[in-house]
Amino acid sequence: MEDFEELVSSLTPREDNEAIKSYQNTTAVACPACEQPFDDMVVCKQAFTSLNLDFEMDLCTAIHDDNVVLFTHK
Ligand SMILES: [Zn+2]
Repeated sequence: MEDFEELVSSLTPREDNEAIKSYQNTTAVACPACEQPFDDMVVCKQAFTSLNLDFEMDLCTAIHDDNVVLFTHK
């Protein structure tokens, strides 16, 4: 994914643990996949990760440096 660092610099870091790193999109940045503003971006750090989602939501995905990146849309 191009411009990943630029994207990250526009987001607010939230969670950082051994499995994931998440950022909140507080400034309505457009999702690189669907071009609609997303709610959160989640970078999966491990080869296999299970996510427990609190809400039903649409997901867009990307790959950056061999990590799966999820964009959530509520
Ligand atoms: Zn999207």
